[in-house]
Amino acid sequence: MEYCISPGARRILQSLVRGGHEAYLVGGCVRDLLRGVAPHDWDICTSARPEETQRCFRGRRVLETGLKHGTITVLERGEAYEITTYRAEGPYSDSRRPDYVRFVSSLEDDLARRDFTMNAIAMGLDGSLRDPFDGVQDIQAGLIRCVGSPDRRFQEDGLRVMRALRFAAVFGFALEEKTAQAIHDNRAVLKRVAAERINAELCRLLTGGHAGDILRQYPDVLGQFWPELLPLTTLEQNTPWHCWDGWEHTVRTVEAAPADVILRLTMLLHDIGKPLCRSTDENGIDHFYGHPSLGARLADEMLQTLKFDHKTREQVTALVNCHGVQIPCRSVRRWLNRLGLEVFFRLLQVKRADTMGQARELARDRLAQLDQLQETAEALIAEGQCFTLKDLAVHGRDVLAAGISPGPEVGRTLNSLLEKVLNGELPNDRQVLLEQLRPAPSPAAPCPPLPGPCGEFPKSKCL
Ligand code: ATP
Ligand code: MG
Repeated sequence: MEYCISPGARRILQSLVRGGHEAYLVGGCVRDLLRGVAPHDWDICTSARPEETQRCFRGRRVLETGLKHGTITVLERGEAYEITTYRAEGPYSDSRRPDYVRFVSSLEDDLARRDFTMNAIAMGLDGSLRDPFDGVQDIQAGLIRCVGSPDRRFQEDGLRVMRALRFAAVFGFALEEKTAQAIHDNRAVLKRVAAERINAELCRLLTGGHAGDILRQYPDVLGQFWPELLPLTTLEQNTPWHCWDGWEHTVRTVEAAPADVILRLTMLLHDIGKPLCRSTDENGIDHFYGHPSLGARLADEMLQTLKFDHKTREQVTALVNCHGVQIPCRSVRRWLNRLGLEVFFRLLQVKRADTMGQARELARDRLAQLDQLQETAEALIAEGQCFTLKDLAVHGRDVLAAGISPGPEVGRTLNSLLEKVLNGELPNDRQVLLEQLRPAPSPAAPCPPLPGPCGEFPKSKCL
């Protein structure tokens, strides 16, 4: 079978083979070629020791940052290719990384250190495969299976737990039974994994096309770093809106949201405040008063735990905080002003996803209302309407030119004009607004200029 190997990777394999060494494509690129997907990077493994690899690429652009672990990066027409000497790993005493690595001469030994059978296949220049763990068969069956004992492999490196779930969520592969059981049994190993690494895998998991299936099956795993999620799995919601428990509702909303990190994180966390806000009235109906604002606070703490950046935290918490608001069409301008365009349109998507996770009979009307809000907002924007001070037809210099002294009064004047425009009391028209800035003609005779201490008339007497 002919595989589409990048010309750069081909040239590198050829250089190594010409130098008398074994060289193969390995890992994700081979897996992706076999899945019929274009690889996004090319990893190469070789029997050449690092110094021998260096010799093969003398005079070429080479980075030696990974030299200690046997990795040399060769730059070919701006693309980076990692070449790693066959290696085996020593014991993992910290569940993060091996205590040492040693170079070996057998490809099979190198493949044995890799995490899953689908990632432990090597491909030669001619497309021939070395597949000692039957990874090809697992790819064809859509199965993720550990190389060797799943318990031992997850104990060695906790990140593999998240990698397994991420691959399953992105590829739609199933987890082989023993591998799946070992993920549940060894989930506590995640406590020893760096937050940044969990963060990166979680984002890829959440934006995967099959994220919902994984969230449904593995809330216990996510509960290792975000225990706040766990009470949702037992949260009953006896309300006319809901026909699922807290976790099933959450998962459905994640599935219904577009595959965007901010939206998927928001849906995962949007009801995180509910378990703490539940009350049941005399008719047996559950209420969750105040859960969006409490949820926003909890979400912020959870995002901080996983070291999310400030902008992500700000957007997700704003959306969690607002996910329950009812926006009438007449207030769209005001909400566009309050949230800004980006967050406003994201909020509509959040509300749509939230609605799609609720009882179907009631969802149709709510979705139609959201469509109407979207249309109203788009029409206002197309008309060039004003939502912020930036869009107002007059600016600070106009206020100063109208005789208002520099200072807080300038901002107050502009805000009061914006308020009137947002309320529809005034059009966002420069002439009309300049008119408003003109001092109203005083019916009384002007105050006589009595000399004050600085030659000025005390203001209070004049007003
Ligand atoms: P992708 O690049 O699409 O995220 P990948 O499998 O290529 O997937 P990389 O991080 O690029 O992931 O790793 C390259 C290869 O290195 C993997 O295919 C696997 O063989 C091996 N590998 C990566 N991380 C681990 C790990 N934590 N434990 C064991 N082997 C690993
Ligand atoms: Mg890769």
